[in-house]
Amino acid sequence: MALTTEPVTRTLPIADMASVRRHARGLLHEHRRTMTKVIGLHALAALASLVAPRLVGELVDGVTHGTTRAHIDTLVIWLATSVVLQTILVWAARRASFIMGETVFAQLREQFISRVTALPLSTVERAGTGDLVSRTTNDVEALSYVVRFGIPSLFVAVVTTVLTVAAAVLAGPLVAVPIVIGVPIMWFSTRWYLRLAPAGYLRERATYAVANGVISETVDGARTVDALGLRARRRQRIDDAVGSCFDAEAYTLRLRMIWFPQIEFAYLLPVAATLLWGGYLVAGGHTTIGVVTAVVLYVQQMAGPLDELLSWLDEIQVGATSLARVIGIADVPPDRSSTGESPQGRDIGVEDVRYSYRAGRDVLKGVSLELRPGERLAIVGPSGAGKSTLGRLLAGIDGPSAGRVDVGGVRLVDLELEQLRGEVALVTQEHHVFVGTVADNLLLAHPAATQDELWSALRAVDADGWASGLPDGLATMVGSGSHALNEAQSQQLALARLVLADPHTLVLDEATSLLDPRAARHLERSLAAVVQGRTVVAIAHRLHTAHDADRVAVVEDGNITEIGTHDELVAADGAYAALWRSWRDEPTVHPRR
Ligand code: ADP
Repeated sequence: MALTTEPVTRTLPIADMASVRRHARGLLHEHRRTMTKVIGLHALAALASLVAPRLVGELVDGVTHGTTRAHIDTLVIWLATSVVLQTILVWAARRASFIMGETVFAQLREQFISRVTALPLSTVERAGTGDLVSRTTNDVEALSYVVRFGIPSLFVAVVTTVLTVAAAVLAGPLVAVPIVIGVPIMWFSTRWYLRLAPAGYLRERATYAVANGVISETVDGARTVDALGLRARRRQRIDDAVGSCFDAEAYTLRLRMIWFPQIEFAYLLPVAATLLWGGYLVAGGHTTIGVVTAVVLYVQQMAGPLDELLSWLDEIQVGATSLARVIGIADVPPDRSSTGESPQGRDIGVEDVRYSYRAGRDVLKGVSLELRPGERLAIVGPSGAGKSTLGRLLAGIDGPSAGRVDVGGVRLVDLELEQLRGEVALVTQEHHVFVGTVADNLLLAHPAATQDELWSALRAVDADGWASGLPDGLATMVGSGSHALNEAQSQQLALARLVLADPHTLVLDEATSLLDPRAARHLERSLAAVVQGRTVVAIAHRLHTAHDADRVAVVEDGNITEIGTHDELVAADGAYAALWRSWRDEPTVHPRR
């Protein structure tokens, strides 16, 4: 187990609310035409819904003061027409808003993905994949919900509310005065709720996460729990975790129990007030019963959109936080900027390099090293000495804090990433099969490669056999959900990519140790074909690699303390000789990281 690599996680940046607003405004501006259409349709739908109360009002007045049957028939026909029209308009408006939501969301997702893939590797590693994964899943999902459903509903709610108020005022300005009576209650109670709710919901989610963790740990470790007689203790921990969930939920429930009734009251109060006030006005002869009926119906009708509006406020806040995290990715500064220089030659030189993950704690303390083109250099040393760190600097993944790592006289961090990968590449145990065809997977390394080149790369790593047996050859879809490649095949695909990228120098960091020995032997053959003719730096966690190398460098505590051929170092009887002797005498215990 790699106890030495205790990563320093620095979270990825989160955009501030000003940039979130700017971004949202930018999006709205970009989609202003669609938005105008959407708002227009919603406005028409809302207008259609406002016809009914007016007609009912007229009906009431008509019946009160006496009217003809023909007039009532006309009113009823208009009423029916307005309802049908409203249905059609609502359908069209909703459809248009969902299309807009999907378009905006697709755009956000695409922007996000292209930013994520452009992130400096060092940043991603430092931030830990957890943060990035949670942004790609939870945050994008939360955002999707808000953009797809929240924003359209918000439009509907705002447009409908505004038009309903306008209609009520038009129907009877004097009668409509009590509309404002609910506003202060709504305003203050909602502000109170929104101040307390986000923290409450966050706490709720955090307690769910803890409970999930405790329960799945207990289930996974059921045997250990049984064996060590930990049942009572685990049960207690589960009870505690569930207890905190309960408390957190009870808190938010309490908030809702206080807020909801106030809101309900704020909806009903104006209705009652309008009725009373309208009754008073009718009694005084200032207005007709029909007008009061219409206004009361309008006021009552406002509860729907207002409710929608308020219920989305919460979600919009969540969406804004998610958007801040999603667009925050763009604030990661690039870790390299190309100077446009071209390397003159293939010599890789390390000059007095220092590197620290944490300020003040140098992991590399002034390392210098000249790689000879075509040589095979093994780097050995105790765990935590800085071997992998040196490997990453040699491959240009990180830049040194001081000193320089050059290829052909140009610093690695001054090269474009694509150019860098044609010079030197790091090979680790990690590899990934991307969803796409086999050819897509290979073309990543060399987009202009021909079919023949792809096949010869596969041949070079001994993978042409299984590749030609695939149902659709190079056009076979692989990756999750498609044709499954086994571990060795995926590794070979990664190696074939290396052959295509064709760097002259490879840094191998324990490339095959996690595989089962049979697959490892097979892969070592593929790897041997790949390293042929290239300069190789092998970070050797097993000493036989060192024995076979042209030179061996011993890294201890951030410095190269010995460098030379195997025989020279054994003869010098220093640290390497001691490591070698202990490894040779105990051949079954191979030093591992
Ligand atoms: P080696 O490959 O020789 O085992 P490493 O280069 O992995 O050594 O690590 C050298 C030192 O740097 C260790 O003390 C390790 O704890 C530290 N280190 C390695 N990676 C990180 C990281 N991502 N964040 C913080 N410290 C790290």
